[in-house]
Amino acid sequence: MGLTVTNASLDGEKVGVRCVDGLIEAIGPEVEARAGEETIDAGGALLVPPLLNGHTHAAMTLFRGTGGDLPLMPWLEDRILPVEAKLADEDVYWGARLACAEMIRSGTTRFWDMYWEVGATARAVADSGLRATLAAPLYDFAGDVIELAHAALEVLEPAAAENPRLAPSLGPHAIYTVCERSLRRIAELGAERGLPIHIHLSETSGEVEDCIAEHGERPAAYLDRVGLLNERTVLAHGVWLNEEELELIAARGATVVANPVANLKLTVGGFFPYPAARAAGVAVGLGTDGAGSNDSLDLLADLKFFALTQKHAAADPTAVGSAEAWEVATGARAPLLGATPLAPGEPADFLLLRHHAPELGIGDLTEDLVYAATGAVVDTTVVGGRVLMRGGEIPELEEIVARAAERARRLGL
Ligand SMILES: [Zn+2]
Repeated sequence: MGLTVTNASLDGEKVGVRCVDGLIEAIGPEVEARAGEETIDAGGALLVPPLLNGHTHAAMTLFRGTGGDLPLMPWLEDRILPVEAKLADEDVYWGARLACAEMIRSGTTRFWDMYWEVGATARAVADSGLRATLAAPLYDFAGDVIELAHAALEVLEPAAAENPRLAPSLGPHAIYTVCERSLRRIAELGAERGLPIHIHLSETSGEVEDCIAEHGERPAAYLDRVGLLNERTVLAHGVWLNEEELELIAARGATVVANPVANLKLTVGGFFPYPAARAAGVAVGLGTDGAGSNDSLDLLADLKFFALTQKHAAADPTAVGSAEAWEVATGARAPLLGATPLAPGEPADFLLLRHHAPELGIGDLTEDLVYAATGAVVDTTVVGGRVLMRGGEIPELEEIVARAAERARRLGL
């Protein structure tokens, strides 16, 4: 079954998009509706590629609005960990459905996630229609990491076989929660199965100091030595990476995902050094982190923070341009993350933006998207040729919000 979008605006030109079997078959002024097939008249709406959220903990939407004014450790130890210890499958499912609904509404169509009860997140992803690469968090305190990884893969691999929009990965939480031996074993398993590795790295300066004290080297060098720095690796945060580490990350082909809003909210004292990373040739994506430390999953809103924090940190308004920032947010600067560009043969994932939105009417569209827009400008979200939101309406949204709120109440949040 095909889907045809007509009357969309792309770079000032009126175009159509024809989608067949989940892929873009044709895009351009010559594309017309076909009788008997699903058609959307975009009415002049702006056609753009979707956003890609490179680092999330989806079900942490349940923790939204909880302890947001606390310092990091009391927040984590008093508010998060005791509740996470009693999370049930259905809590994670509805928390992740809420996250997916929010991402659909704000124009994100693929995300990289790490969270407990990964099977429940896989179900939520399948039911929402989004794309995701999922990992169970691997911590030494939770048990043998390889047993935990196998248990997660036993759930994720059949789910991915059924749902082509889903992919498994390994999620060692961080170098300070997983010991060297465990990290090496995870590296072996990842290499054996060709799985992506999703890990937090260099989020706080304390993590760097501890790594140097314990291992005699900085976090990226340590990760490389244990075999976890390669072209399948996604590093979340990277706030304190220095130039030497960035050179090493670029040489190994790993990806860094910047999370500027979470860094601001948890006041880690800095931002991922994007200009130095670009100079070194590092692949870079953008993430929100979990709603517990953001609290929003609106990546378009975070894109402004990304650009502004980079300019601020460099004391240079040319530190990152809007076109480049937009590429970071759509995954175009990080091949591993799985961007979906607007081109024939690519997955039929795209957005239609309200061309009458006050934020988008005047000036350069990319500048408007980076500096003025939020997810509120998204009218229609399409993934794999399937319409997940039309006219700002997501089916089942009311139920999803109510069920997630009910699960949060059950947890005492
Ligand atoms: Zn995180």
